[in-house]
Amino acid sequence: MQKLSDEQVATFVAAYPAAKQNELLLSHTFLKIGGPARLYIVVQDADIYVSIIEFAKKISIPFYIIGGGSNILVSDTGYEGVIIQMNMRGSKIEETVVSACAGDFTGLIARLSADAGLIGFEWGVGVPGTIGGAIYGNAGCFGGEMKDAVASVCAYDILKEKKVTYSNGECMFGYRDSRFKHEPHIIFGMTMVLERGNIFLAKKKIEDIMSKRKDTQPQGAFSAGCLFKNFEYKNTDALSILQRDVEVPSELLKVKKIPAGWLIDTLGLKGYAIGRAQVSSVHGNFLVNLGGARAQDVLALSSYVKMKVRDAYGILLEDEVQYVGF
Ligand SMILES: Cc1cc2nc3c(=O)[nH]c(=O)nc-3n(C[C@H](O)[C@H](O)[C@H](O)COP(=O)(O)OP(=O)(O)OC[C@H]3O[C@@H](n4cnc5c(N)ncnc54)[C@H](O)[C@@H]3O)c2cc1C
Repeated sequence: MQKLSDEQVATFVAAYPAAKQNELLLSHTFLKIGGPARLYIVVQDADIYVSIIEFAKKISIPFYIIGGGSNILVSDTGYEGVIIQMNMRGSKIEETVVSACAGDFTGLIARLSADAGLIGFEWGVGVPGTIGGAIYGNAGCFGGEMKDAVASVCAYDILKEKKVTYSNGECMFGYRDSRFKHEPHIIFGMTMVLERGNIFLAKKKIEDIMSKRKDTQPQGAFSAGCLFKNFEYKNTDALSILQRDVEVPSELLKVKKIPAGWLIDTLGLKGYAIGRAQVSSVHGNFLVNLGGARAQDVLALSSYVKMKVRDAYGILLEDEVQYVGF
């Protein structure tokens, strides 16, 4: 990335004195990897957020929005621009309508909804990070997805320079996808309409989900969750090479989605490491930082895994994690 001039940095800091310089991004990511952000600012207010982005555009400073940092891999050289951390918080529950800000933690909103006797968002309890990040990537697990929960999203369209409110359909959610991945926006918040249910069962579901995650995912490890998307296919021809060597369980064939972790596991790659980055020995789709890993280690390991899966099964894995500063 092109180096910012001293003048650009000074102009930005004069306008926004809360901005930090050369803030190490590894302390803001779940992977604990990443060099410094030339500029870094935490924002709690929608109008200030917009003004920062418009100002950065005016003085040609690249910008990047982060939430909880649980789904990003930041380059070892950091980010030559301004990282704007979304910290707008404040949720409200009225009847069956849950409103949340982009900076609210997804897990907390799931718990608050269950505590209010509302059902349908319990799965969100295990998704680290913020509501903004969850909407951006249509986060999901245990059969739930943001696309099934969200009623509306309010945001700022960075290209059209206007505030917008989108209905669920207008968010164009897909598998780990949304319109926000294709058209730059600042997501400010959302509403969900849930159903009234049994509070005891809702809380029990939350505890069951948490204990299932403990059994199937690495605990206490630095990671960005799943590195690759699961492999979705329309036509079984896509599995012809895979099925030559491996028996694919019928439940996977039924949903036409092969978990990336399962593919990686069949190749015996669990526990394989490059530098300090390792394919988790608990879950094949989790790449973990054993401590002191560099982004380069993760990139090398991710390329190696992709090559192995492509060569063995003719399947090209796609990244789920977002790359920052490369
Ligand atoms: C241990 C672990 C388990 C995980 N399990 C799951 C899981 O089960 N299911 C799942 O889907 N994901 C999972 N993840 C991935 C991750 O938690 C989700 O993708 C999460 O929703 C990301 O939220 P975040 O706030 O951390 O986003 P960040 O990592 O900060 O950002 C991710 C992307 O969202 C964009 N973004 C964030 N906030 C905004 C905003 N307000 N406006 C515009 N863009 C924004 C960023 O620019 C970036 O491109 C897991 C991660 C970890 C570490």
